[in-house]
Amino acid sequence: MQWETVIGLEVHAQLATKSKIFSGASTAYGAAPNTQACNVDLAFPGVLPVLNREAVNCALKFGVAVGAEIGKRSVFARKNYFYPDLPKGYQISQFELPIVGKGELTVELESGESKVIGITRAHLEEDAGKSLHEDFHGLSGIDLNRAGTPLLEIVSEPDMRSIKEAVAYARKIHQLVVYLGICDGNMQEGSFRVDANLSIRPYGQEAFGTRTELKNINSFRFLERALNYELERQIDVVEGGGRIVQETRLYDADKDETRSMRSKEEANDYRYFPDPDLLPVEIDESLLEQIRDEMPELPTAKLQRFIQTYALGEKEANALTASRPLADYFEAVVNAGGETKIAANWVTMELGGALNKAGLNLANSPVSPEQMGGLLKRIADKTISGKIAKQVFEAIWNGEGDADTVIKAKGLKQITDTGAMEPIVDEIIANNPKQVEQFRAGKEKLLGFFVGQVMKATRGKANPEQVNELLLKKLKA
Ligand code: ADP
Ligand code: MG
Repeated sequence: MQWETVIGLEVHAQLATKSKIFSGASTAYGAAPNTQACNVDLAFPGVLPVLNREAVNCALKFGVAVGAEIGKRSVFARKNYFYPDLPKGYQISQFELPIVGKGELTVELESGESKVIGITRAHLEEDAGKSLHEDFHGLSGIDLNRAGTPLLEIVSEPDMRSIKEAVAYARKIHQLVVYLGICDGNMQEGSFRVDANLSIRPYGQEAFGTRTELKNINSFRFLERALNYELERQIDVVEGGGRIVQETRLYDADKDETRSMRSKEEANDYRYFPDPDLLPVEIDESLLEQIRDEMPELPTAKLQRFIQTYALGEKEANALTASRPLADYFEAVVNAGGETKIAANWVTMELGGALNKAGLNLANSPVSPEQMGGLLKRIADKTISGKIAKQVFEAIWNGEGDADTVIKAKGLKQITDTGAMEPIVDEIIANNPKQVEQFRAGKEKLLGFFVGQVMKATRGKANPEQVNELLLKKLKA
């Protein structure tokens, strides 16, 4: 039997606000346990939550970016459950009236095609605390710093039909929330977490199969592995005559398997009801207008523009628009005189590689876009070869000045004067009679040997095309 995979994702994006969603406590990551949870986050008696406007703005930005219906009036609801990391006994979330309604996102697939994935809704909620299981002599600790951190839960339709599509969608959402500046996207710190729902059905069957939900996945690699494991498991169960039970499962990265956590709870298990401490959120048109006006260029539009304006291939353009700082850096290099193809290559390969190696990022790159543009100009006008340019790049990186300064100080200007090159070529031909004879007898790949000798003699400064030309002329004479 051939099985079709059906996947829907729920993404939790931590919103990049300075303070919590309903209190003034800080959201900064990494503070000592329980130093950043205040009375409101813990719902002590006698305190009241006050909604953080910034969290609302973040949700609206997302809604506008995915062309969603915006809830003109949305309501916070209490989702009641007990868990050690939620001592107040309920989470403030949104249920019936979310702030962001139906929208969609276009996802580019590896095959080069793209697919539109439906977004069911996105709602605001508060995060819970965290259980710490290490270093407590067999006991667990609770850190409530994260309690009350604003989350946007983005729920997709069950529109994905393969694991690749699901991973591509998750990456696209990640890219989008980071572009919008509403989430720092740091998956290691838990700022972006995915719950993945998967079911299978025989090809051709319309009704969906029973799904399982894989909770709290915090890397794209784990997402792919967890879904792979779960897909195989479901197929085995069904083909072995069993039935899939709707449940919540946990992905264990160390064992690379999913395990049952609990049977799936229904919405009514949570006894949702509107939070009596919070007013409904009213969104007026002028705020939406402002958010639309301030919308940055979104990844897909930027990708298309890069392909068209800079005559780049889809792959190059994709790499360069992966993040806003990278795209901005590239455009600044082009503005500073870099030819687009060379600039694409140097920014992603040379600079990208060097930054990676040094553990730096674009924000603290030792080479500014202006310096990079200046360097690439000298490749384009043939002052230096691409090879020498790597030396110059290193010198700029080490703070020895911009390209022209380095080229002058180190005497790296390419020899393009054939008059100056000729005696060197003549000497090399005179010194290697055996190779000359072999070349003339038809062993043409020896040309490389001669080019190498000239390059060595000029310490790489000869223009390779001219060397080739001159050598051929003399050797074939
Ligand atoms: P709940 O509220 O119980 O989490 P939802 O109906 O809101 O359930 O769905 C949660 C997620 O599960 C959504 O992303 C949705 O696309 C996905 N989903 C629903 N049904 C299926 C299914 N049969 N197979 C795969 N994913 C599904
Ligand atoms: Mg859910």
